[in-house]
Amino acid sequence: MPEDCLFCRIAAGEIPADVVDQTERAIAFRDITPQAPVHVLVIPRRHIATLSLADDGPELGDLMLLAARVARAEGIAESGFRTVINTNDDGGQMVHHLHIHVLGGRRLRWPPG
Ligand SMILES: [Zn+2]
Ligand SMILES: [Zn+2]
Repeated sequence: MPEDCLFCRIAAGEIPADVVDQTERAIAFRDITPQAPVHVLVIPRRHIATLSLADDGPELGDLMLLAARVARAEGIAESGFRTVINTNDDGGQMVHHLHIHVLGGRRLRWPPG
């Protein structure tokens, strides 16, 4: 695992996080700078830098299913929520370990900025 990767260290339990759910291959925890009342990040335990480098369909499927499970558990599945994957600089990716943002609990605007 890349020593300097924040999310690898969270997945390894080296840095504390507010974990809300997890599976064998993925982990979900609250964003420390939430942009909505519910803002959870879903990451693969394995280091993948960006979506454009992903190569494992079942692993991606596991991420999406965990994102949906989090939305149900957080009570935003019916009211609505957004799943976002930012990729590289123009996409606004801040941490270069693939992650899905799950945002909800307020009306989100479209298009995003
Ligand atoms: Zn990583
Ligand atoms: Zn992000």
